[in-house]
Amino acid sequence: MIHQNKSTQQTDVIRSWKKSLQQGFSNWLELAQFLQLNPDEYSVVSIKHFPMRVPLSFAQKMEKGNINDPLLRQVLPISEELQTADGYVLDPLNEMAFNPIKGLLHKYHNRALLMLHPACAIHCRYCFRREFDYKAQTQAKESWQYVFEYLKTHSELDEVIFSGGDPLMHNDETLDWFIQHLEEISHIKRLRIHTRIPVVLPDRITEGLVKVFNKTRLQKIMVIHANHPNEIAQDVTIGLKKLQQIGFTLLNQSTLLKGVNDHPETLKALSEALFEAGVIPYYLHLLDKVKGAIHFDIEENKAKEIHAQLKSITSGFLVPKLVREIAHQRSKTWIGSEKF
Ligand code: SF4
Repeated sequence: MIHQNKSTQQTDVIRSWKKSLQQGFSNWLELAQFLQLNPDEYSVVSIKHFPMRVPLSFAQKMEKGNINDPLLRQVLPISEELQTADGYVLDPLNEMAFNPIKGLLHKYHNRALLMLHPACAIHCRYCFRREFDYKAQTQAKESWQYVFEYLKTHSELDEVIFSGGDPLMHNDETLDWFIQHLEEISHIKRLRIHTRIPVVLPDRITEGLVKVFNKTRLQKIMVIHANHPNEIAQDVTIGLKKLQQIGFTLLNQSTLLKGVNDHPETLKALSEALFEAGVIPYYLHLLDKVKGAIHFDIEENKAKEIHAQLKSITSGFLVPKLVREIAHQRSKTWIGSEKF
């Protein structure tokens, strides 16, 4: 038997998640072939600044031969993306108004969001940051000192959110470096990670990553992003359990999307799958009106109706809050469904 030394094993693990990342699809003909679909069934367009990007593990969860698969719909750039409509804009949340310093958004009183990495493992066609100018926020390690200085001088900040893109696109060493800098700031108590990677690239939850998070003094919250129960397969659950075991509070946010999860039974199944994996359903967002995503929109009254039906068929703790994010509001706006 051949014994590998520890550093070789670690290198293999890193190679393995990076390899999984590269194994995805960025070409519709290849994805159609993989899914046993006729590529002519959808009018797929090429969006240069936000091309198709689908990790293999996500594509493997799609139903073969089903052009209406809810996971496929989330990632396929179809011709409807070219539609324009009043109110659908490039920056629906006007985030640049809360960008006092490169790499940081300070929108809400006690928490700041760091745009740690410009890329994602998947391109979700409804993403409110699909038009975001990440290049303008990307900087060398030395320049992050200005961000740490900002955090130090704002003692009202007790929570920092790692966001992106997707923060888990960074390697373990870089994430460790960011966390160590936060730990030096005494008023920072909590670290929140906003990521879709545990769902779309579960190989990323490596032993090395778990070690990085396990040693921090900060309270850890991870807000994952899943929209449909088919996304929560066994490989995803295994990764989530590892995070739960080291003390992460796991929450999920979904977006209510036409043709993906706009049925109470689907949302109920999603909540149940999440809960079995140790994740609390947290938010159900109404679509942010970003240019190119109009075909996913659900009218607000219809959303309230779906939410009310969900409430009537499952336990209260499995019902995520229905919310809309409104630019310049100091918190998310709850959309009630009491009248139904
Ligand atoms: S993973 Fe998140 S940030 Fe990235 S494209 Fe999807 S919704 Fe947007």
